[in-house]
Amino acid sequence: MNVLVLNAGSSSIKYRLIDTASSATLIDGKVERLGAEGTHARAFSEILARLDGQRVDAVGHRVVHGGERYAAPTLVDDDALDAIEALCPLAPLHNPHNLAGLRAARAALPALPHVAVFDTALFVGLPRRARTYALDLPLAEQHGLRRYGFHGTSHAYVAGLAARALGRPLADLRLVTLHLGNGASASAIEHGHATETSMGMTPLEGLVMGTRPGDLDPGILLQLLRAGLSLDALDELLHHRSGLAGLSGIGNDLRDIEAHAEAGDDRARLAIQVFAHRVRKYVGAYAATMGGLDAVVLTGGIGENATAMRRRILQRFDYLGLTYDEDLDGAVALNDAAPVAFVSAPHSRVAALVVKTNEELAIALDTAHVVDAQRAATTPTRKIPIAVSARHVHLDAPALAALFGPDHALTPLRPISQPGQYAAHETVNLVGPRGRIDHVRVLGPLRKRCQVEVSRTDEFKLGVDAPIRDSGQTSGSAPITLEGPAGTLQLSEGLICAKRHIHMHPDDAAHFGVADRDEVEVRLSGGPRDLTFGDVLVRVSDKFVLEMHIDTDEANAAEIGPGAVGDLVYTETPATATVTARRITA
Ligand code: ADP
Repeated sequence: MNVLVLNAGSSSIKYRLIDTASSATLIDGKVERLGAEGTHARAFSEILARLDGQRVDAVGHRVVHGGERYAAPTLVDDDALDAIEALCPLAPLHNPHNLAGLRAARAALPALPHVAVFDTALFVGLPRRARTYALDLPLAEQHGLRRYGFHGTSHAYVAGLAARALGRPLADLRLVTLHLGNGASASAIEHGHATETSMGMTPLEGLVMGTRPGDLDPGILLQLLRAGLSLDALDELLHHRSGLAGLSGIGNDLRDIEAHAEAGDDRARLAIQVFAHRVRKYVGAYAATMGGLDAVVLTGGIGENATAMRRRILQRFDYLGLTYDEDLDGAVALNDAAPVAFVSAPHSRVAALVVKTNEELAIALDTAHVVDAQRAATTPTRKIPIAVSARHVHLDAPALAALFGPDHALTPLRPISQPGQYAAHETVNLVGPRGRIDHVRVLGPLRKRCQVEVSRTDEFKLGVDAPIRDSGQTSGSAPITLEGPAGTLQLSEGLICAKRHIHMHPDDAAHFGVADRDEVEVRLSGGPRDLTFGDVLVRVSDKFVLEMHIDTDEANAAEIGPGAVGDLVYTETPATATVTARRITA
């Protein structure tokens, strides 16, 4: 699926078109200099022009604040837009712009699904003890004062990659994830759930950031207000004049600060020390709240690139069981193909990993997941029984006479599923150059041409190579000899290995959105050996009832039995159906 990921901010919209099947970025870029109202729409039409005609299947939107309502990505409808708007007071610097981007994209591409992926979603389920501020409780509830957390998309993404690199399920792991960029946050990911995070009600709390202070004694704010600092000046101080920039006096870029520190600048050194100290404090705190630790995961511009800062953060954690390996760290070079590197010693009980985050890809994958789930949920699930066809024979009138004697009529034994057809009492023997198979059931009524359907295993036994054919297409098929009680018949052609197929009535075809001779995939699941069959031919006729036919080899490979279920998938389009299996033999 091609997902267009949008990150709409106050001054720019970043976009990236991602093929979620390969995770490849097809196009990416940024439209800058947004200003006045309404320019998101203009910026979005510029993005569409830059997509150069590439197909877009869905749009994934980064939305910073999902409040308590959104614990997962969500398909955007009018109701969701209202909800995101109502959350603007909680994220005044972000949600209004995210919303403007969403509205512009929806207006331009109304037929596509739009999915909002929230930075806060990972933390909606924070335990009460972790999300609650120790304030007057009714007052806190009245104002919605709680820890929301941010950067959730990145924390979840790198936790997933770390678990894969560790070869263990997330559900088994206690991780501290550190997203260290211009914004910085730490999270405790305990058995697959976030149980702590350092950003709080707003993205100001926690770690030292590029221009934000992180944790502060709230008494400082009172003191500054009493000293006459205006609210706006306080806002400016907390958002833009603090953190690495405020400490160093140099700016928020750690590379510049490191260069100054090396040259002896004491404020630059202090900035680095305070930053690393705060991160170490959180790692220890989260190991304590989780009651142990399996890995520390670093990401973000600083986490991924700043080797010296990683060393400061990760040294002397041996008491926790984490042995940092400076040589490994020195060799870290991440890229999209190799986004994970270990920086802990091989024998270290607690691992340390550096992971390249990719929030756009995470948003694209989340978006594809929501769209797929939505399609599956809204696609009707008419059950398709699976019939297992054992080897069988269709005869024409001359063949019946040759094998069973003149004037012989087939005697129905029992009806089979397709209307008017039956298994007959009569059987014949198949004789091939290598071997024979006796007592093969004849199906009635008589047909215009003889046709013998066997499995690949049967062919091997007989010593014949039969082509895979749709029923009725016997021209040029394999020869076979039939023995009956009244004589032997050599067919120069007529032996086929039946192409797996689904019989359906035109009503069923309309239901599934498929047409005669379409090829579909059928996924069987619920049995001991789940299997997806490709190249399944759809046959539509008003004489058919809904049923999929596979041969015994195919049934054995899937070990299907009564009650097995699966999905029918029509190429790339969303027709899906539950498939039930039952075993019949002709
Ligand atoms: P944002 O939170 O804005 O997405 P990033 O995750 O891109 O920010 O992180 C940006 C920060 O990463 C820069 O401010 C810079 O300090 C830091 N950084 C990037 N590369 C290096 C490096 N090689 N050494 C030290 N710091 C680096």
